[in-house]
Amino acid sequence: MIMAIKNQDPSGKTTSDSFFLPERYFSRLSRVDIAKDLLDAHLLYVLLDIDNTILRRDTHEVPRDIVAWLARAKEAGVSICLLSNNWHANVLELAQTLDLPIVAKALKPLPFGYLRALSKLGAKRKQTVVIGDQLLTDVAGAHLLGMRAYLLAPLVEQDLTHTLLLRNIERTLLKDAQPEGGIAAQSLLEVHEQGREL
Ligand SMILES: [Mg+2]
Repeated sequence: MIMAIKNQDPSGKTTSDSFFLPERYFSRLSRVDIAKDLLDAHLLYVLLDIDNTILRRDTHEVPRDIVAWLARAKEAGVSICLLSNNWHANVLELAQTLDLPIVAKALKPLPFGYLRALSKLGAKRKQTVVIGDQLLTDVAGAHLLGMRAYLLAPLVEQDLTHTLLLRNIERTLLKDAQPEGGIAAQSLLEVHEQGREL
């Protein structure tokens, strides 16, 4: 199921736009099953985007279910490095709070940041998945280096202007693909904010 949403032409070859398509597409980080979707897939290392992947752009908070997921992943022996194009000091503070290594100003999709993050973890590319909310940065950069990529629906729709332009391209690439995880991210957030168990 790893190649779930990649397009294949009738001859079985992946089509040219599959470079930008993730191996899996989830509604939210906490919908990634640590045992099945990481460990069973031989993925022991995660390079994790920050903005709109774990950090809400509107409230600048990491939702509780995501904090809990990070703790469970660590417990399960998964090593995580934050990998962000963000250059503000607050991402460094966030990394400290979450007790995770970070490569900031990563210039994704260029390979340098990914390579620095891999070496921080002592990770092999084959055992590493990049998880983020953008096809043209997170996913494309992972594939440039031959790594797998899991796309997440963005935590909130509010985005920077230049990101909004990229979102239109992403919508074209994703066509009608729906994220795994059932309920749409926004509804999950509402459930979460009302304090109910996910
Ligand atoms: Mg992002």
